[in-house]
Amino acid sequence: MKKKHISILGATGSIGTQTLDIIRRHADLFEVEVLTAHGNADLLIRQAIAFQPNAVVIADEKQYDKVRDALADYPIKVYAGHKAVTEVAAWDTADMVVSALVGFAGLSPTLAALNTGKAVALANKETLVAGGALVIATALENKAAVIPIDSEHSAIFQCLAGEQSEIEKIYLTASGGPFLHTNPTALSAVTKQQALKHPNWNMGAKVTIDSATMMNKGLEVIEAHWFFGLPSEKIEALVHPQSIIHSMVQFADGAIKAQLGLPDMQLPIQYALSYPMRLPMPQQRIDFSAAKSWDFFPPDTTKFPCLSLAYEALNKGGNIPCAMNAANEIAVQAFLNEQIKFTAIPTLIEKTMYQIPFISQPDFDDLVQTDLTARTITQQNI
Ligand code: MG
Repeated sequence: MKKKHISILGATGSIGTQTLDIIRRHADLFEVEVLTAHGNADLLIRQAIAFQPNAVVIADEKQYDKVRDALADYPIKVYAGHKAVTEVAAWDTADMVVSALVGFAGLSPTLAALNTGKAVALANKETLVAGGALVIATALENKAAVIPIDSEHSAIFQCLAGEQSEIEKIYLTASGGPFLHTNPTALSAVTKQQALKHPNWNMGAKVTIDSATMMNKGLEVIEAHWFFGLPSEKIEALVHPQSIIHSMVQFADGAIKAQLGLPDMQLPIQYALSYPMRLPMPQQRIDFSAAKSWDFFPPDTTKFPCLSLAYEALNKGGNIPCAMNAANEIAVQAFLNEQIKFTAIPTLIEKTMYQIPFISQPDFDDLVQTDLTARTITQQNI
């Protein structure tokens, strides 16, 4: 494998730091080109000193002086602001961009990378939810690869290696989150601390709350639609509390392929970086010596309406998934700020989906406008 130069957008988050762990382990294969962070200047500075990238970007402009001063003795360029994140994503000096920003903010830099024909390892699912048609068209136009990092989509991508036949359907597995066995009537009283305690996965706050509402699976249904070109009726969510089977593909002859592993994001991240090769990984293996049972059952969409809302948004199409995503981002933040109840999250999203003016084929500016308007509507409803 030729040495790859990697830019990481969102380097200080959960996916970003794990990407750097992999790069550290395979320093002969990967080199860091650019690191960007939203606001965690201290960690960005430490990462820059350790990995010596060509440049860093701190999106929060107030922290520019701090980062610049700390890196003054190093040959590292320092930039600030959201615009700079999009600009560095297009740099030709990188072979691959890891898009690990959270939320709609990831759309513009991801498009910038694809527009210059660069491979994108995509962890930012909101990018495909909000702007899937545009992202896939841009990738095709520029012959740029988009490789999934999200564990379910990586599982399907791994199951498809070597396959040339059509997919009959896919099963997206879901842990069910921390409230899988909570009585539905108790959901309105759950606290943010309870919602942030995921049973299997260690992730950032946004995706952990999304897992608790099952909106995460909803976003992933839309993500799968764009990644694999499947209509909604061929994408089925399946609760599998052990999170060992990361997803499955069923083919025309009824054969089902699954990808298994302990719940650890390092595997899908590393596979995206090294694809089509696999690299050694020191992590723990599944132990089959003790009896195990793995459970599967359909999700309860009455208890978790966010999943149904996502299917509805996908079927309506146009700018509705973008509006749904924006409403969800605002509602999750309001829940984390302890402004609203857990059960208000789907109610707010549904209201916004009905209030947003419909656009059937949104361009980039339409999506930016939809995102803004949906945020305003949701805030007003809060
Ligand atoms: Mg996932």
